[in-house]
Amino acid sequence: MKRFSIPTIFNSLRVRIFILVLLVGLIPGTLIGGLFFQMYQKKALSNDAVSMTSQAQLLSNQIVTTGYLSNPTMDAINNQLMALGNIYSGRIMILNSSLQVVNDTYDIYTGRTMVWQNAILALRGKRSSTYDNDSHCQVIAVPIMGTGVGSTVEGVIVITKSTDYLEQNVSFYTRLLVFSVLVAAIIATIVALFSSIYLTDPLRKLSAAILNRQNSGEQVMVSDVAETTEISKHFNEVMTRMDEIDASRQEFVSNVSHELKTPLTSMKVLADSLTSMGDEVPVELYRDFMDDITHEIDRETKIINDLLSLVRLDKSGVTLNIEAKNINEMLEQLMKRLRPIAEKNQVELVMESFRPVTAEVDEVKFSLAIMNLIENGIKYNQQGGYVHVSLNADHQYFFIRVEDSGMGIPEDSLNRIFERFYRVDKSHSREIGGTGLGLAITKNAIDMHHGQIQVHSMVGEGTTFDVRVPLSYIKES
Ligand code: ADP
Repeated sequence: MKRFSIPTIFNSLRVRIFILVLLVGLIPGTLIGGLFFQMYQKKALSNDAVSMTSQAQLLSNQIVTTGYLSNPTMDAINNQLMALGNIYSGRIMILNSSLQVVNDTYDIYTGRTMVWQNAILALRGKRSSTYDNDSHCQVIAVPIMGTGVGSTVEGVIVITKSTDYLEQNVSFYTRLLVFSVLVAAIIATIVALFSSIYLTDPLRKLSAAILNRQNSGEQVMVSDVAETTEISKHFNEVMTRMDEIDASRQEFVSNVSHELKTPLTSMKVLADSLTSMGDEVPVELYRDFMDDITHEIDRETKIINDLLSLVRLDKSGVTLNIEAKNINEMLEQLMKRLRPIAEKNQVELVMESFRPVTAEVDEVKFSLAIMNLIENGIKYNQQGGYVHVSLNADHQYFFIRVEDSGMGIPEDSLNRIFERFYRVDKSHSREIGGTGLGLAITKNAIDMHHGQIQVHSMVGEGTTFDVRVPLSYIKES
């Protein structure tokens, strides 16, 4: 089925306001005018009926007292009937009790019998008045009552009055109304035009201000009306947020370029030195240089892999592969994988589970998050140190704590370590193969599980990371 669609011109607020003001200006006047005509006609007809009936009543009294019905040639009454007929631009008929027309001012029905429903009703003592729309006439029928106690109906007076005067009045007023509506339409159009321009002007100004915004820091403010002030404020807030995102994106890109360039520069220096030495390079030196180049390639690979992990986690709408997993087993596996590195660094790796924990997580992403924490605990440690991993849970969350006896993190760096490429000691971190992306990856992965991470550290004593994650994955609404 084809849906009704509003023509595009009505999408304009200016057009809508114009039409609205125009309708508000025209409809009430037109409606009131139409109503006035109806009421006027009704009232005029009812006034006519009242005056005709009272006139008929007077006539009836005269007819009875003069005995006109048995002597219809009486000039006094006949002249009166003629005069009344002229006043009403109509006709008067006097009927006797056999419905025979005694007098007709049009002199057409005199002598004839008139079987007319309202005349019959009048003979029964009932007055009536009817309006004939076709001939524009109002007709009343009034009984002629005899005098005295127990008197009967002696005849009927029928008065027909032309209502042409009413039609003339109505047509005059109609012309007046059409003229007024036309004048009102012109006034309403002008008012509608100006009000639509006036009311939408602040929006036009706002749109121009947004369009003419020269640089990213420039604030837009159109405070003509409360609404545009509010829109301006919201626009500035959104733009500030976008500027921040843009700045952080630019910083990220420049960091990435720098990080990727460093191993390449080292490789180039190493390769150039080898070439400049010509053919007399000893094999051992060659091997040494090649080892260094391999090391730089490994580093470049690690940076790229970390970046890829981060980008994958960062993508909005990234789908998590959530499954109920045994967290104890997951941690055991991680410990197994990291034990060789711990042994190499002569760091003791201990795990303590307070209870069996099953939780809904994305195993790959969550393992990566915890692995980074344990790996850091090993990397930034000292010979003979320890990394202690513990797992606990309540009815809502599970808690993982990674505690080490390493070098610790200075207080002023604590709130920056989750930033991409942030390293407390750049050269030291580079030496031990850090990319500065590990904790950013960890934070992203934990955020995706609607969890929280906190860090406590003391330089020279060690660092503790506390992770809290809901046991059941909370779906985004
Ligand atoms: P990196 O790859 O350099 O380790 P991370 O994002 O994992 O990057 O960590 C950022 C920085 O935080 C590290 O360079 C290091 O200086 C510091 N850091 C992280 N974990 C620890 C820890 N357990 N002990 C001491 N310093 C740490």
